[in-house]
Amino acid sequence: MVERSSPQDITIAGAGYVGLATAVALKSSAPHLAVTVIDAAPAGVWRNDTRASAIAAAASRMLDRLGCWEAILPEAQPITEMIVTDSRTSDPVRPVFLTFNGEVEPGEPFAHMVENRVLNASLRKKAEELGVTFIEGAPVNGFEHGEAHLTVRYSDKKSLRTRLLIAADGVKSRLREMAGIKVVNWEYGQSGIVCTVAHERPHHGRAEEHFLPAGPFAVLPLKGNRSSLVWTERTADAERLINEDDFVFEAELEQRFGLKLGEVHVEGSRKAFPLGLTLARDFVKPRFALVGDAAHGIHPIAGQGLNLGFKDAAALAETIVDADRLGLDIGSVAVLERYQTWRRFDTVQMGVTTDVLNRLFSNDNVPVRALRDFGLGLVERMPRLKGFFIRQAAGLSTTAPKLLQGQPI
Ligand SMILES: Cc1cc2nc3c(=O)[nH]c(=O)nc-3n(C[C@H](O)[C@H](O)[C@H](O)COP(=O)(O)OP(=O)(O)OC[C@H]3O[C@@H](n4cnc5c(N)ncnc54)[C@H](O)[C@@H]3O)c2cc1C
Repeated sequence: MVERSSPQDITIAGAGYVGLATAVALKSSAPHLAVTVIDAAPAGVWRNDTRASAIAAAASRMLDRLGCWEAILPEAQPITEMIVTDSRTSDPVRPVFLTFNGEVEPGEPFAHMVENRVLNASLRKKAEELGVTFIEGAPVNGFEHGEAHLTVRYSDKKSLRTRLLIAADGVKSRLREMAGIKVVNWEYGQSGIVCTVAHERPHHGRAEEHFLPAGPFAVLPLKGNRSSLVWTERTADAERLINEDDFVFEAELEQRFGLKLGEVHVEGSRKAFPLGLTLARDFVKPRFALVGDAAHGIHPIAGQGLNLGFKDAAALAETIVDADRLGLDIGSVAVLERYQTWRRFDTVQMGVTTDVLNRLFSNDNVPVRALRDFGLGLVERMPRLKGFFIRQAAGLSTTAPKLLQGQPI
């Protein structure tokens, strides 16, 4: 086995945006810590990610504080307004039940839509500038406990020593399994079809969420006359749809999208992601912590998966940096418990909320429809409650980690 010579303080498995955000948050506040990011995917594969994400206001405050937002902003589409409808797929008109204006503070939208390749490029560049080491095309395939460190094995026969291993390896986390952490998990039997569409007319920054019997159909504005779709269908239907030729796929799309933005064409690839709820029972073990989807995979109905991951990154970085300043062992359970306590309640709350919303809205039961439409109408007439929901969606709370409030650690 080949061991890298210099031991690392922190090793992060997974260079998705949560792993990268954790690395940048740590190195920005504690530059003396040696941080390595190891990813299973080959170098540069993230440039082909065709997905886009809704970045809530709190997450953009964090990206700004980390010096990444300036490069993202020219390519970020502010969400200026949001509408919610509830109808059947074949209905010719989709009545609007709920509307939200898009600002949390004057001039500050509650969210921006950003393409993942733009977000990753900015975080990646900053991580390199700060001196984070990258090892790519190298899956982590095991780790063992030493006296005051872990030995992390990756690729074929390589290894490194680290004081703390952070697993940011996604919802099917192998590292979580290797650490013996159990999950609560169920599948929804739904998949989210994700693709980008170009349309003739401008969207004016308006996001739309149409609740249809098979699940939510979200139209999220991108720069230019383009939108990102998250289209929920039963898994078998989603598989069939993504394998259809362009003509059939676009005809099915038009039935849901309508013609208000003119003719619609799919740009690039379409992919379907099976949807479920996965919550890790523990977020930490000695010298080990979970962040992002490795800790929690939730339904995209509220567009909050990435934002939960950024909260983890900010809370874990703050926990580690505070402990390091006090001269404590950053890998000890006593230190890591603070992170677990901070993040677990919020995560379970969001997991349960998305689960209930999905069950409530992904069905065609007449009394349930009447009840939920009554509820939507009620919220529509309560501006203070709408303001509260917008601030929640924007991730703005006084208990949020410092970075999410735009403050340094
Ligand atoms: C259909 C859909 C739509 C969504 N829309 C939104 C949205 O609008 N807004 C939002 O906030 N969230 C959204 N989400 C959720 C969001 O995409 C996820 O929360 C986010 O991708 C999680 O990021 P992550 O970095 O934790 O994991 P991932 O992005 O899954 O990254 C994991 C990384 O780990 C690497 N890896 C895997 N195994 C190993 C290993 N053994 N060793 C080393 N590296 C490894 C992988 O190569 C990868 O780079 C959506 C999700 C879905 C499915």
